[in-house]
Amino acid sequence: MEIFPRRQIEFRLILTALSCILFSLPFIVTGKALIVIPFVFAGGGLYYFVFYYPKYLKRRGISKNPLTDEDRKILSEWVSFYTSLSNEDKHTYEADLAIFLSEHTITGIDDVEITRKIELLVAATAIRLIFKRPEWEYRDFGDILIYPGGFRTDGSYSTDLKGTDTAAAGLVHSAGNVILSLPHLLRGFQHDNDGYNVGYHEFAHILDGYHPDGVPSELSLGAYRPWVEVMQAEFEKVHSGRSILRQYAGTNPAEFFACSVEAFFEKPLEMKKRAPDLYKQLSEFFNQNPLS
Ligand SMILES: [Zn+2]
Repeated sequence: MEIFPRRQIEFRLILTALSCILFSLPFIVTGKALIVIPFVFAGGGLYYFVFYYPKYLKRRGISKNPLTDEDRKILSEWVSFYTSLSNEDKHTYEADLAIFLSEHTITGIDDVEITRKIELLVAATAIRLIFKRPEWEYRDFGDILIYPGGFRTDGSYSTDLKGTDTAAAGLVHSAGNVILSLPHLLRGFQHDNDGYNVGYHEFAHILDGYHPDGVPSELSLGAYRPWVEVMQAEFEKVHSGRSILRQYAGTNPAEFFACSVEAFFEKPLEMKKRAPDLYKQLSEFFNQNPLS
């Protein structure tokens, strides 16, 4: 994660400048341009620096001393990926985790108490995906809600599962909130080589864009065609029961992408052997090789 995300800064500066130009138009028409417009742009600049710039300064401060020794102990105990990192990568990963936690709210539902361990594990899944793409930023999303268990998929989101045999472990709500079931989140770390990790899955949906379709918005134009061809071929394998991905990946292209991400990080050896093209696409996309 970049401390000063160039693309986001440029985008917001352009947006601020365009707003200033639009606001100035009536003064140009009435001949007051020379008097008023400098004030409009000074106001726009002030707005930008007051509302956006402090966020990046805060990032810089956090990245200097991101985590405590106790945090590192929790990560060492729970996140095998963290222990495999070089010292340099560890520092980057720690800074990313701390910045992510400072910019997102994690709320416990019912009697779930949000401990430091839960915070770190949520961030660990989100950051794993974007760790080697510092230019990426998750699009804005709502709160991260931690449920005490699986929940109903009938729209009630109730954790009372009586009378239903389908429960969800996680979800990205259309309103923007990310829901994660706590036992499923923990299980993802306790069994980190079975292709199930609800955190990877839901943050892959966020990465997939506002309208998840299995073609993430960060995919470069040149990569689009091979990506779609490889995904389509493996999607068909899921339907014929020949894929390394679980059956749920065949639900639609968005679920296919999210399940692929889980398998890529948790079963990279098996994916490379049995679906080398899929492995290659994901490896290039994330700029990561989980086998190394
Ligand atoms: Zn999903």
